[in-house]
Amino acid sequence: MRISSLGSGSRGNGTLIENEDTCVLVDLGFTLKETVKRLKRLGRAPQDVSAILVTHEHADHIHGVAAFARKYQTPVYLTPGTYNPDRMGLLPEMHQINCHRAFRIHGLGIEPVPVPHDAKEPCQYIIASGGRKVGILTDLGHITPYVQQQYEQCDALLLECNHDVQMLLDAPYPWPLKQRVGGIHGHLSNEQAAEMLHDVEVGRLQHLIICHLSEKNNLPHLAMEAVQEPIDAWSGTLHVAGQDDGFDWIEIV
Ligand SMILES: [Zn+2]
Ligand SMILES: [Zn+2]
Repeated sequence: MRISSLGSGSRGNGTLIENEDTCVLVDLGFTLKETVKRLKRLGRAPQDVSAILVTHEHADHIHGVAAFARKYQTPVYLTPGTYNPDRMGLLPEMHQINCHRAFRIHGLGIEPVPVPHDAKEPCQYIIASGGRKVGILTDLGHITPYVQQQYEQCDALLLECNHDVQMLLDAPYPWPLKQRVGGIHGHLSNEQAAEMLHDVEVGRLQHLIICHLSEKNNLPHLAMEAVQEPIDAWSGTLHVAGQDDGFDWIEIV
């Protein structure tokens, strides 16, 4: 199994996960033209995408989904709450999922995990193939006991490090926006991400990818420093997903 990213952050997200026979795209926050360009950079054509899994209806995750699905006849999987017919229109093949029940897309096992975020029915995904597991965990305001338990055993983990708390407090935003981002239905801070890692089985974790970094309220080195402590004696590889360039293919062995 391998993973890559078209880009990560509040201006657009898109994560590719594939095995020999199936390639899924988790979220698509880019325009059609931009998506095709970014896929090409990763050596993939739109037709290679077997399905799109959507986490929630915020624009940075859903902006490009409907146009892509209609143009390339790509199946879309999402919760009933995430689907808004006024915004997305008719999709060629839509699967409304139960976010408490695992399902399969060809050779990939998909486990949705409900998360606390200010969207209608948000979930994140754990994707499994050949005994390996990739966890994607972004856009949540806090780690619930259920989330903690589900993500304990992953071979690769994409973990949100949205903001540095002090940078968020100092940012020139209105107070309600700061409360939203830093609140229990907002986004994970570097500190919350680090806290979550204390309970992850790091011996199994080959790759940790910190992602969905705020461009205004965080810096890659602050996020990396924050997560360093719980993974101190760890022998895996730490990556940072960028807004413009995502990250190149990472092989999970
Ligand atoms: Zn987001
Ligand atoms: Zn969101």
